[in-house]
Amino acid sequence: MTTYGERLAAMNKAHVWHPFTQMKDYNNSEPLIIERGEGIRLFDMQGRAYYDGFSSVWLNVHGHNVPELNEAIADQLGRVAHSTLLGMANIPAIELAGKLAEIAPQGLTKVFYSDSGATGVEIALKMAFQYWHNRGTKGKTTFATMNQAYHGDTIGAVSVGAIPLYHETFRPMLFPSRVIPYPYAYRHEGGEQGAMESTLSALRQLLETEADRIAALIVEPIVQGASGIIVMPPGCLREMAALCRKHDVLLIADEVATGFGRTGAMFACELEGVAPDLMVVGKGLTGGYLPVAATLATDKVYEAFYADYEEQKTFFHGHSFTGNPLGCAVALASLKLLEERRMVEGVEAKASFVARKLAALNDRPHVGEIRQKGLMIGIELVRDKVSREAYGWTERIGVRASLRARELGMLTRPLGNVIVFIPPLASSEAELDEMTDILAASIVHATEGGTAS
Ligand SMILES: *Cc1c(COP(=O)(O)O)cnc(C)c1O
Repeated sequence: MTTYGERLAAMNKAHVWHPFTQMKDYNNSEPLIIERGEGIRLFDMQGRAYYDGFSSVWLNVHGHNVPELNEAIADQLGRVAHSTLLGMANIPAIELAGKLAEIAPQGLTKVFYSDSGATGVEIALKMAFQYWHNRGTKGKTTFATMNQAYHGDTIGAVSVGAIPLYHETFRPMLFPSRVIPYPYAYRHEGGEQGAMESTLSALRQLLETEADRIAALIVEPIVQGASGIIVMPPGCLREMAALCRKHDVLLIADEVATGFGRTGAMFACELEGVAPDLMVVGKGLTGGYLPVAATLATDKVYEAFYADYEEQKTFFHGHSFTGNPLGCAVALASLKLLEERRMVEGVEAKASFVARKLAALNDRPHVGEIRQKGLMIGIELVRDKVSREAYGWTERIGVRASLRARELGMLTRPLGNVIVFIPPLASSEAELDEMTDILAASIVHATEGGTAS
């Protein structure tokens, strides 16, 4: 007799191809099959509980199985699950657009829906491109991006991506982008100041010589996520935005990871008073419940498309599920909870609690740098603390630490040698206390466990 769990595990192995996963490794490991969630914990089929220490890959805001969010979906489900936004509207999509325009950085008044961060980025790129075309400006057809950027996995998003491990294979399929250095202070000989100067001087030089060929600069504001949770030096984003404005290059803020309170402000751009021309949101928009993303645009961008039909300035883009009512309804409910529970305001206190808890890790021999903005934390492990020598990628130090965390009851997923801690915003101090203990124990186990015995 096989159990249901065993049959599922076999079917998983036989039929499911998992994202960002070497299936040969995966199929040789014990599969974690989640059955349900409650608060900030997920439960597997054996009933074991795990803290969701990475918000189910940076999505979750209020925890799982939240009554208010469930209700919003059920309520909408009783009306209509889906109807198209192509040339017609639905109630939650209108309400949500109004809400997003209200809370977004200044000037972003128009909302174009899609269903993932990557599609939201595609839309921003195509809007920026067609913006110049519609205005009759010739030649502004390339994009600028930052080293180690990640904007999603569709071809346009990969074209402005710059993580060699993910992106290099596809190079022949991609359109070329101009890449400026990201200010990675820990690995820049000039530290914060030097890293910021390198970035700004490269951008300045690029724009002074080639602004007439560049449609837009796309940037992960304040925190570059997938590259290893790398925090920009203060003032850098503001300077970058000013340079773009000066040289008439559009600024696209990819707030897919940073949006909805994650960094301590509703949107990371606000931390430096930056108002981009286009902004992409996803991940936390629905509280991590359903796949809805949005690309927000200014009136200036929108107006370049607003013309008589014969002029053919229409934005010819859409997806089957654009403006999905269930997704928009839960997004609205999530934003309502964010406000009612003053959760964005609450991030600062939680973030400083986490910072205090993690500070002790600075004394460990293989903890290179602890980086944090709000509740977005990355801990870079190094083989040698003084020389900052990295662990070899075959050592899989991040994977080992994360597996240990799972054994101790917390889920996370590393970015190379960087351990990620991105708990749901709703995590209580007691929960953060336990999670940071697990995090620290896992890091010590992975980096010192072998040598201690
Ligand atoms: C996750 C992410 C994306 C892609 O979002 P998907 O919903 O996975 O397509 C884009 N940009 C950033 C900054 C992200 O973190």
